[in-house]
Amino acid sequence: MLTAASSTIALAVPGLPNIKILATGGTIAGAGVSSTQYAGYQAAVTPVDKLLLAVPELGKIANVTGEQISQVASHNMSNEILLKLAKRINVLLASPEVDGVVITHGTNTLEESAYFLNLVVKSEKPVVMVGAMRPGTSMSADGPMNIFRSVITAGSKDSRGRGVMVVMNDQIIGARDLQKTDTMTVDTFKAPVFGYLGFVVDSKTHFYKPPARKHTHQTEFDISKVNVLPKVDIVMGYEDDSRAAVDAFVTAGAKGVVHAGSGTAAVSGQMQPGLEDAVKKGVAVVRAPRSSLGIITRNMEFDDDKFGTISGDTLSPPKARVLLMLGLTRTSDPKEIQRMFNEY
Ligand code: ASP
Repeated sequence: MLTAASSTIALAVPGLPNIKILATGGTIAGAGVSSTQYAGYQAAVTPVDKLLLAVPELGKIANVTGEQISQVASHNMSNEILLKLAKRINVLLASPEVDGVVITHGTNTLEESAYFLNLVVKSEKPVVMVGAMRPGTSMSADGPMNIFRSVITAGSKDSRGRGVMVVMNDQIIGARDLQKTDTMTVDTFKAPVFGYLGFVVDSKTHFYKPPARKHTHQTEFDISKVNVLPKVDIVMGYEDDSRAAVDAFVTAGAKGVVHAGSGTAAVSGQMQPGLEDAVKKGVAVVRAPRSSLGIITRNMEFDDDKFGTISGDTLSPPKARVLLMLGLTRTSDPKEIQRMFNEY
């Protein structure tokens, strides 16, 4: 049974999973002026009821209802919307009437939102995120099939307890492992370091592994009473860089800074005193790799013990920002935050 708008009352088909679709915007809800326009179209214009009606096959696989949370391109996704989304998911999944949730989202920052939800959703029920690289008006739009496969995954019993997953282009990718790798191609999402969790073939999920790190109901993060997340910014290291950006962020009130360094998150001689002064002011400083790939352990190319900084493990700079914001909702002790980076 397909119920496009959340306000519509329709009888659910017994035996089919009840899946809630939460729409946030993105290219999956985008529209262009012609079927050949893949760039320059407008993201985040199609409402959730229209998105669902474009995939009538959903009615055969689930009782689907839609709800509009926001209508933004994901580079405009804010902490405020993220908190609203996470709280709504927790309410929905606490209900015996809901078996799983699918979130439609822009691809630009999908990995950040996915990792955030992976750390704050409190349920074993499936949470699947989905986007598209081509707007719904384009030839060979990828959105409808991605939505179909997301609902298959959200309704599958095998998907329980696997943390937040992203389903696009036939693949199921864990939120922590996910990386957007290409600006335009439909196979942009990869898990270059850790690999895919599984695949969707026709109407069936095929899983090969659980997520490596703690997630969802296993984490210590509780956003039920959080209305504002601590401000965390990212500065990049590059040839002949300076400490100006760190100083500016600290002056603007940052509680945390992620330094995206070259190689093994190295810090230049001129950036180092900036980070040192930030730590002295109580700002948590995390080192993550500019390349977004690979591991950063303590004291690798920088003396974390001496400077009081935190090594970012295998998180990319944007994901390190997400964990640091959540860590700072619980503590400002760098040792405790380091423990979190080692655990999540
Ligand atoms: N181009 C983006 C997308 O693929 C727009 C966005 O992230 O909202 O969804």
